[in-house]
Amino acid sequence: MSANKKRCGNCGQTMERQTVGTLHWKDFRNLELLTPLQLLKCTSCGEVGYFAGEVSLIDKAAESTLQTVTTHLIEKILAEHHCSQVELANRLGITETHLSHLKSGRKILGFQTFNFLKTLALGKDAFEKASPSIPLKKLMAG
Ligand SMILES: [Zn+2]
Repeated sequence: MSANKKRCGNCGQTMERQTVGTLHWKDFRNLELLTPLQLLKCTSCGEVGYFAGEVSLIDKAAESTLQTVTTHLIEKILAEHHCSQVELANRLGITETHLSHLKSGRKILGFQTFNFLKTLALGKDAFEKASPSIPLKKLMAG
């Protein structure tokens, strides 16, 4: 088999090089890449495959996507809710230092924090509801 073909570890069919826009990466089950990659994909079951030398390429694409989107979401939330980084960090349950590292792209976040950021950026009242000062009893009543 050439360097562009591999057998699928899932179903045994042939994998061929194709444009792949969505990846399983770390705890992200369906990470949509801002820039799709040419990777091996099973012609039958859709399983994505790659050679050992391509791992860093995949990491780079996933990290670059997350950095770009995370910075955008944080800036959007800070501007639209007129809140400070401390307030946003409190809602996310992370330190302000960690938030500032995420905003500058120095650190990559996990799926849970990323999903929470998306919710806060898109939901009109999600930001208010995520306030740590909201009494739990009030949430139980609603
Ligand atoms: Zn397959």
